[in-house]
Amino acid sequence: MRKQTITINEGIRPISPSYDPWDPILSLREFGRHALTSVELTVTNLCNMRCEHCAVGDSLVLKEPEQLPLPLILKALDEVEHLQTISITGGEPTFRRQTVEEKIIPLLKYAKERGIRSQINSNLTLDYERYEKLLPYLDVMHISFNYTSERDFHEIGFARSGHPVKPEVAYKMYETMIENTRKLSEAGMFVSAESMINYRTHRKLPEIHRMIVEMGCKRHEVHPMYAADFAEGLPVLALSDMRAAIHSLLDARDPDVWMLFGTLPFFACNGNEEDLQLLRRLRKEPNVTVRNDPDGRNRVNVNMFTGDVFVTDFAAIPAFGNVREGKLDEIFSRWLTEHPLNQKVNCHCDAAGCCGPNLLVADMYYQDTDFKSRKAAAL
Ligand code: SF4
Repeated sequence: MRKQTITINEGIRPISPSYDPWDPILSLREFGRHALTSVELTVTNLCNMRCEHCAVGDSLVLKEPEQLPLPLILKALDEVEHLQTISITGGEPTFRRQTVEEKIIPLLKYAKERGIRSQINSNLTLDYERYEKLLPYLDVMHISFNYTSERDFHEIGFARSGHPVKPEVAYKMYETMIENTRKLSEAGMFVSAESMINYRTHRKLPEIHRMIVEMGCKRHEVHPMYAADFAEGLPVLALSDMRAAIHSLLDARDPDVWMLFGTLPFFACNGNEEDLQLLRRLRKEPNVTVRNDPDGRNRVNVNMFTGDVFVTDFAAIPAFGNVREGKLDEIFSRWLTEHPLNQKVNCHCDAAGCCGPNLLVADMYYQDTDFKSRKAAAL
């Protein structure tokens, strides 16, 4: 185990549009190959919501078993030679106070002592105190925000609860989430709010953006919704609608707020003028970045109950290793070099800043495309 007891990350480079350590293009450029620099940890499968689009919905439970001992997880992280970021995810990671005290805070302290960046994916609907405790350690509080009213929140957030949830209950949670976001932002937390582009939101993104800015969020993340888990049966948006949605958002956004687009289905090798125009615009806009998808490029997901290692927390692709049986660097290297799924999408055009499509994107829009035989056009 690493023995540092002092905080060594004072003065490390701040996260900004010109430095996003989650983007695999950075480590690809640094090491000349994909390297494991990011580990996502699933700390719970409990959640107080059941969103219609939940990408891990099928894994959610009402009761869960004991986790692996924390020292085993910390040892696994310690062995990752080039680790730069960790992400803590669920479920709602803070659902149980005990998880906050016994798992999340120690993991965040570890990250801080090692000088690496941390993120939590939360719905921020529980009491403020459990989030406030994370303030001294956490780099990015990531939330989902796809609403223009409490009615949207009620409809979307409990669509899969299996029993009716009273509007008043949902409205109260919505207020709490907004209040928590405001207070944490005021207290200095970097809150990054993510919106999905989907059949519900694609015409409302400017309004959603305005509300995110009003809450004090430092970053607005925008990702298309893909058909995973609960979202599998939802309508698929045409690529033309998605392009139009992004243009409308760029037209209306606050240029002082960082906008991060991720898992986009538009590539510089598409030979499509509309895609190229959009990609060029995204490059030119101030405070706008397009992140390559970390899943399987520089990141793996570790389930803290079983130790299983996945390419993504979506778990549709079976585990390809276990932290009890090998080092994460070795497991990741086997994924990179041997796994047939990775061979399908493992391309790279440096001038376009692109390291290939996310597996879900390739599956949803580009089933017959051989990306590895393509090349980016000039942007
Ligand atoms: S890296 Fe792959 S997906 Fe990206 S532009 Fe090049 S060939 Fe296309």
